[in-house]
Amino acid sequence: KESYFEKQLVPIGIIPTGEKEKIHIGSFIILRNVTAYKELDEAKTNFIATVSHEFKTPIASMKMSLQLLENEGIGKLNPEQKELVHSIYDDADRLLKTTGELLNITQVESGKSKMNIEFCEIKPIITQAIESTKNLAEQNRIKLELLIEENLPEVQIDKEKTAWVISNLISNAIRYSYENSSVRVEVKKTFDVVSISVIDSGLGISSQYKDKIFDKYFRVPGTDKDGTGLGLAISKEFIEAQGGVISVESELGSGSTFSISCSTNKLF
Ligand code: ADP
Repeated sequence: KESYFEKQLVPIGIIPTGEKEKIHIGSFIILRNVTAYKELDEAKTNFIATVSHEFKTPIASMKMSLQLLENEGIGKLNPEQKELVHSIYDDADRLLKTTGELLNITQVESGKSKMNIEFCEIKPIITQAIESTKNLAEQNRIKLELLIEENLPEVQIDKEKTAWVISNLISNAIRYSYENSSVRVEVKKTFDVVSISVIDSGLGISSQYKDKIFDKYFRVPGTDKDGTGLGLAISKEFIEAQGGVISVESELGSGSTFSISCSTNKLF
């Protein structure tokens, strides 16, 4: 059976030899056997993966039935019934999104998240991502804008995962914005890289949290929106696995710009 160890280097002593110089006079290594923790962690990951997988299909079929009801495919509804069906549909939609996030993070954690990288056009992927967030934008009274350079070269990406990341960044931008504002998606080429920026003029993020928001389950304290704190962690894993970079510029109270880069060169 495989065992796992965590290594810690502990310096024994330091002798100052000048104002800034110093020499280390040796160190020892502590090896901690973490096999039990690792097994427990894997069991947790497998459990979450199984449960979220089992949830996905029934929720998706619930959504389809609710849509049929709402569109009066089975019979007429009065306005109250219609509103109720619509609100259940929204809940089912959110549940499906959370289930998808949980499934994605478990796949990343267990190394089962296969990247399917190919050269392709970026425009259809952006359009698809914008389309998938249109309803959310309407509900939150946010205007979506797209500014894309002409004649962009093909990029080397996993299409499905990149579309997921862009749509996640746009839904964050919508959710963390004020009503009647705009969210702009900007796509441009700089040297060998196509960068996609999602710009909002919403809440913004204080500088002490800018790195932390990419950690699993981290949410800025006091956030009053529903969420799991998984979207950005998954986005970072997906973008870095295709050789890209994800970054954020933000000012508390003025808005945020999340950017991802996609290579136009052969990397893999
Ligand atoms: P979730 O949105 O489900 O909480 P994310 O991983 O997508 O999870 O985001 C982590 C946290 O980062 C959010 O809880 C929020 O506090 C902050 N955040 C993300 N995007 C934005 C944004 N565009 N503007 C302000 N805060 C944001």
